[in-house]
Amino acid sequence: MANADNPCLIPALVLDLPINEFLGWCCSLGFPSNKTAETPDAGKPPEKTGPNTPQRRAIPPWRRQIGHRDHLLSDLGPLTSPLASAAMRRQDKADRIGEILDHLYPETPVPLDHRDPYTLLVAVMLSAQTTDKKVNQVTPHLFAVADTPAKMAALDPEQIRVIIREIGLAPTKAKNLHLMAHQILDAGGEVIADWDFLESLAGVGHKTAGVVLSQAFGIPAFPVDTHIHRLAARWGLSDGTTVEHTERDLKKVFAIETWNARHLQIIFFGREYCPALYHDLTACPICSWASTKKRQLSEAPKRRRVTQRR
Ligand code: SF4
Repeated sequence: MANADNPCLIPALVLDLPINEFLGWCCSLGFPSNKTAETPDAGKPPEKTGPNTPQRRAIPPWRRQIGHRDHLLSDLGPLTSPLASAAMRRQDKADRIGEILDHLYPETPVPLDHRDPYTLLVAVMLSAQTTDKKVNQVTPHLFAVADTPAKMAALDPEQIRVIIREIGLAPTKAKNLHLMAHQILDAGGEVIADWDFLESLAGVGHKTAGVVLSQAFGIPAFPVDTHIHRLAARWGLSDGTTVEHTERDLKKVFAIETWNARHLQIIFFGREYCPALYHDLTACPICSWASTKKRQLSEAPKRRRVTQRR
């Protein structure tokens, strides 16, 4: 998630660079540092589409987005709780957050285009450090040539690298795709719905395995990336310092049958609502009541600092 305290902004603050230009530069390099990088506008010059243009300055991104979905939230009653957030039990927060997410995102389509478990596995591998949009632009070319482990294994890593060159870390990912295809062929030629098998593949970690198991096979999993990790902390659902700890905490407060949807819903929420700038927790449909007063106050000075530098 990209926020005012986004570590991506630290170089800009340290070097005293204009935040607008810095974010525009990040977007031009394909870093998913804010919402505009995920939108169809992302390829346009930052001075026309960045988050700080005069038009956008008048209506901060989160306000526009929240306004678009007010009709979905209205039947949930007041979003702010009379209870101090610190006094709410973690389970009560999770129940309320689940209710809001279900209203906002009743459908949870898989964001990465794929044809079967193997092509989803490839797409998820490619998505590390890259936007889903960029992956979806590249995979049609890759799958036209190699949409099975046998076809991928027949390519050499350099051929794969050339096809996926627009994606970050292309050389490493090409080598891993080549090796992984051989590993799958050695195991019978199919992606097996098994944690140990998936995590044994080149370039496949726990999160990637979880995404494939949940989205390709419907097996309950709660993949936690840095975005979900940070939101879970902001919402008071976890105090974990690692993604593994956060995954355990989230699995405790959400029912197992909701895990696969919750993973995607939290990602969708982060992309849609969490801007790079104007980070106003008190106006957010969830943070306004779920985050602690201490956290809201701690965010305020950072917000002021960022806006003053503009
Ligand atoms: S206040 Fe809203 S926009 Fe900011 S981190 Fe929380 S959920 Fe995201």
